[in-house]
Amino acid sequence: MTANLLEFDQQGLADFCEGLGEKRFRATQLFRWIHQRGARDFDQMSDLARSLREKLKTSARIEGLSILSQHESTDGTIKWLFDVGKGDAVEAVFIPEDDRGTLCVSSQAGCAVGCRFCSTGHQGFSRNLTTGEIVAQLWFAEHFLRCHLQRDDRVISNVVMMGMGEPLQNYSALVPALRVMLSDHGYGLSRRRVTVSTSGVVPMMDRLGQDCPVALAVSLHAPNDQLRDSLVPLNRKYPLAELLDACQRYLAYAPRDFITFEYCMLDGVNDQPEHARQLIELVRQHGGTGVSCKFNLIPFNPFPQSGLTRSPHKEVLAFAKILSDAGIVTTVRKTRGDDIDAACGQLAGDVRDRTRVGERMARQRVVKITQVPVGASAGSKEN
Ligand code: SF4
Repeated sequence: MTANLLEFDQQGLADFCEGLGEKRFRATQLFRWIHQRGARDFDQMSDLARSLREKLKTSARIEGLSILSQHESTDGTIKWLFDVGKGDAVEAVFIPEDDRGTLCVSSQAGCAVGCRFCSTGHQGFSRNLTTGEIVAQLWFAEHFLRCHLQRDDRVISNVVMMGMGEPLQNYSALVPALRVMLSDHGYGLSRRRVTVSTSGVVPMMDRLGQDCPVALAVSLHAPNDQLRDSLVPLNRKYPLAELLDACQRYLAYAPRDFITFEYCMLDGVNDQPEHARQLIELVRQHGGTGVSCKFNLIPFNPFPQSGLTRSPHKEVLAFAKILSDAGIVTTVRKTRGDDIDAACGQLAGDVRDRTRVGERMARQRVVKITQVPVGASAGSKEN
């Protein structure tokens, strides 16, 4: 079995090259070909010695994920559904804005945390993605988009680990993937532009701060333990006081001087003025010094099994005003890609029932993805 080079960060690729009897610095050239130029064929790599290319052909491969579907919204948002085998599928979403291009990336097939308002949580957990499967979402999207948008420069400027899964419950695969994103020879993204979103896996927040500090978003969703226990079951293990302690510790390493708190607005559940006032007290008073933070209010995207509904827009604005009036920077997330079910919390909308996914995968394997870049194919199974 050959090694898939998408599985390696630069250090790992240097080890691999050394194992082939090559100098470690060859990994830098190879890494650039793969990630900066989207190459998947060793014969393309014209500045590598022929002898190295021949060794690579017999010992390595560059293999992306097969695409099951691609949908483009009228607002330019593009959603891909990738096959990760055995009936599992994960999604990635590209969100273009005037000053940035953001890719939302998945870290697990399904999720074990089981948040009540999240369709991924309702599908259950299947497995962790490998580093290569996480990186492959970015690798494919970046090089596909350069072709699709006819651009030579970098298209994806920001990555948010907010797709399917709890990234900090897949830590050992996540960190090398982040390093590929951050590497100057890879995607060259700044730490401020790579965000890990967590529901609050406290010990791993501490490790991330030490190992690979990037921007941090915390899915808060409630101002007190009683309510958060019912919305984010992980709160029973790591209650709010411990979570906010971890946020304070993280700030010592974070590339930004604030934590982003995500707050999904649920009608009549967590969207009342009293909840906003409790939030202010929580983040201002915690530990005596408070937690430097911003709030991002997210319109809920309803799905039948949740039994929840979206807060009316005027309630969301009133909630935002209470936080803003207290001096807390608060944004209301624009919904993007509604027409293709790519809005936040809908990423698993198509895949929550894995049995149906299995059926659909069989049907969709024949779907041709026509706009595949030369460098980054839709995946070996399609070709
Ligand atoms: S919100 Fe995040 S952590 Fe919670 S179930 Fe969904 S994917 Fe998992």
